[in-house]
Amino acid sequence: MHTPETPNSPYEAPEGLFGLEEIRTGPAVPVPAGPLFRDSQEARRLLSVQEIHAEPGAAASLRGRQILARFPDADVLPVDSHWRIPQLHGNKGNAERWVRIKSTVLVLGERKTLTVRTNGRSADWIAPGAANGCAMACAYCYVPRRKGYANPITVFTNIERIIARLTRHATDLGPKTAPNQCDPLAWVYDIGENNDCSVDALISENTADLVHAFTRLPTAKASFATKFVNPDLLLLEPRGRTRIRFSLMPPDDSRLLDIRTSPVEQRIAAAGDFVEAGYEVHFNLSPVVIRPGWEHDWGRLLQQMDDVLPRAVKDQAAAEVIMLTHNRDLHEVNMAWHPRAEDAIWRPELQQRKRSENGSWNVRYRDGTKAAAVETVRRLVRTHAPWLPIRYAF
Ligand code: SF4
Repeated sequence: MHTPETPNSPYEAPEGLFGLEEIRTGPAVPVPAGPLFRDSQEARRLLSVQEIHAEPGAAASLRGRQILARFPDADVLPVDSHWRIPQLHGNKGNAERWVRIKSTVLVLGERKTLTVRTNGRSADWIAPGAANGCAMACAYCYVPRRKGYANPITVFTNIERIIARLTRHATDLGPKTAPNQCDPLAWVYDIGENNDCSVDALISENTADLVHAFTRLPTAKASFATKFVNPDLLLLEPRGRTRIRFSLMPPDDSRLLDIRTSPVEQRIAAAGDFVEAGYEVHFNLSPVVIRPGWEHDWGRLLQQMDDVLPRAVKDQAAAEVIMLTHNRDLHEVNMAWHPRAEDAIWRPELQQRKRSENGSWNVRYRDGTKAAAVETVRRLVRTHAPWLPIRYAF
């Protein structure tokens, strides 16, 4: 089990530019009970941090020092704000450069706004995230919408403030009095709106701290979607208070669109272990991409789930169905590096445009097309995986 705040021997942090002596001598890195996946070659293929851009306050914090100690060979570069690192962010350059940035660069910042937002679809509430950005590179991902496609992971080091905010929010709410589609009993907080918490756990104990925090909140539950199987999460003790939502789509779609993620088969195979470890495991059937033969391939995926998932998973599972949404700016970015993906996800004859709050054009399937496709997915679930209730579909 991870012991996030356990004292350990001092360490030598990398030679940074902060001039902060305590960075060199301070605190403890959690002691793993055994070899961790995050130290494996497989994990390093996804993330091998060589450069850390850090706000001074973040670097000097407990979590920041732990992260700096974890990557002692990385160059450390001070930045005024994690929002403004022009040499990293944006859509300039090519995919090779973005992937290099995503896999070798980390940003440390402090989260300033700690707003808990209402949601009501996947979760009751959207928690202030403990990170944003992602080391993976799905072609349809909306996470880069603010920092650009080359955004590496920014870890927020003031995790104790995030947890304190969530604790206060859940405590003020009190018990959930009426069941809803998010959960019959608990208030559900999405802790991974703009990040993948499984990947974040390769870097720091933020995900572990959140999982543990929710074990102390009897009326609340954490929830996050993931496309990455991180076995280290099995070492935590979530005690049923964290819902992990493995995102699934037909493997052919995933190989085309889910760049750098764990294979779909691996995500399905992991579900039993996660239930056994004390997680609630749900599935995000998403995004559903309409292309020739899609119904057949979704039927096969659901049949595969029915064939291989253990009863313990089926007994507690539920699903969200989310039709693809896309974005014109992202389409243009993708055309420069992955036009084959756009053949599948940019289908103007099936899609309608809608201006988003930030002024860019989002596209989604036309109302009639989408309604028919949602009904098709519902029918496929009833046929192949009747044990899988659909919490919501849109
Ligand atoms: S795993 Fe999620 S956050 Fe990461 S690139 Fe894919 S869609 Fe975006």
